[in-house]
Amino acid sequence: MRIDVFSIFPTMVGDFASQSLLGRAAQKGLLDIRVHDLREHTTDVHRTVDDSPFGGGAGMVLRAEPIYASVEAAEPPRPLFLLGPGGRRLDQDMAKELAETGGFSMLCGRYEGVDDRVRTDLCDGELSIGDYVLGGGEVAAMVVLEAVGRLIPGVMGNAESAGDESFSHGLLEYPQFTKPAVFRDMEVPEVLRSGDHGRIERWRRSRALLRTMAARPDLMEARGGLSEADQALLAEFPPES
Ligand code: SAM
Repeated sequence: MRIDVFSIFPTMVGDFASQSLLGRAAQKGLLDIRVHDLREHTTDVHRTVDDSPFGGGAGMVLRAEPIYASVEAAEPPRPLFLLGPGGRRLDQDMAKELAETGGFSMLCGRYEGVDDRVRTDLCDGELSIGDYVLGGGEVAAMVVLEAVGRLIPGVMGNAESAGDESFSHGLLEYPQFTKPAVFRDMEVPEVLRSGDHGRIERWRRSRALLRTMAARPDLMEARGGLSEADQALLAEFPPES
């Protein structure tokens, strides 16, 4: 899968993409992340990428010319998303959708944003990572790269680890523990040490339900509340058990 990123701070994204899970994915040939420096496509000695906004107002706006030139030279995989607070908000479903494509691209804005002709004519859509304003699209690009990259088959060490985690079944993940079994008088639930895999699975699901009900009632509502099977699990493993 190829993902192209356009930015005026290419090393920020490139360094991130070369490490950890994404770096290993690249080494294995599963992921090809290409970061393009928008300044390479400027024509003046100062490598200027921004200018003042028509109509006045604070701040600067990224100019269309270097962005068009950079995208046209790279011929990146489409869709090309402009990163910005007005876009479709990234969630786990969208990350999965993107992980199932052959590739896509992202354009990082800066300053007051990007000349709007880039959004309406050059880009195919907009993508946001949440309802807040960042200083630039680079952190958003990194969030998307990590959320999507780890879902590409073969990227995560244990192929099962994406299946059980938060949001994969409309629930948050169950709590996880590791050794020691007792730490500062806090004991790991007995069921997890029982070796009874059926019981462990049922307990985990009951805890995923309880955790989601407490922390994200909106997710519970979206999945239509508790099914009869869910209620039976909570009867078997009540909250205090
Ligand atoms: N003036 C713009 C506005 O009010 O919508 C904000 C511009 S912001 C300071 C600069 C750049 O950061 C944007 O062009 C965009 O690329 C990126 N950015 C900011 N918030 C973002 C978000 N929530 N998700 C994705 N990118 C974001």
